[in-house]
Amino acid sequence: MPELPEIETIRRGLGPLLVGRRVLGVEVRERRLREPVAPRGLARLRGATVTGIRRRSKYLLLDTDAGLTLLVHLGMTGQLWVADRDRPRRPHEHVVILLDDGRDLRYADIRRFGLMHVVRSDRLDFHPRLKGLGPEPLDGAVSGETLFRATRGLKKPVKNFLMDTRAIAGVGNIYACEALYRAGISPRRPVRRVGKSGWDGLVASLRDVLNEAITAGGTTVRDFLNAEGDVGYFAVSLRVYDRKGKPCGRCGKPIRRIVQAGRSTFYCPRCQR
Ligand SMILES: [Zn+2]
Repeated sequence: MPELPEIETIRRGLGPLLVGRRVLGVEVRERRLREPVAPRGLARLRGATVTGIRRRSKYLLLDTDAGLTLLVHLGMTGQLWVADRDRPRRPHEHVVILLDDGRDLRYADIRRFGLMHVVRSDRLDFHPRLKGLGPEPLDGAVSGETLFRATRGLKKPVKNFLMDTRAIAGVGNIYACEALYRAGISPRRPVRRVGKSGWDGLVASLRDVLNEAITAGGTTVRDFLNAEGDVGYFAVSLRVYDRKGKPCGRCGKPIRRIVQAGRSTFYCPRCQR
């Protein structure tokens, strides 16, 4: 499943190919995504010019000069890329947006867990998919101080807190595990027992792992023009995630796997307290 760094890499890759382009039309071949695609809704983009592409959590937002924003989530297997119009269509290409430079923005999704909606730009903050999201971990809104204050008196484990999109948007399982390891904090520790300096270290670790993955993505993913659109997990070096039983790089003790809130957590029981 693409996580925040993958989505951010896609956003950066698509920006130069999309901004300034006018939409000539939209073809919907398969409506059955996680939420049904509305062909008439997407058709409202016709004639609009893309003015920017933003990311909110794991959603991509394509803004246009028509006051409409295309909201895209890639689900488990969604792919979004730009191809020349005469390039043969691939299986599972469900939505094709025709651009004025002879290219298409194509959306493919084998498992169809993604979604694609056209939303009025001035109503985006109220959209059900976006309105409950917490602040972005990579912008200034998240700090050790804000998280420290937000968690006084709460009992939930710190890993579960990091994964709560109402607290922080879009951290994801891999990066929550990796940030906790770097910060030396046990994923099971109740949030009220993480002090101010602990939160400072955790926020710094979270930014580091996310930024390293974005940097790795920039080198791993060559371009989004005429590529096959494939974005796999980046070659970021994971120190605990999916390393059950392997030695910790710091102390040599085997990495342990537990399940928290239905998700696998990997950590070092000696280095993380
Ligand atoms: Zn260790």
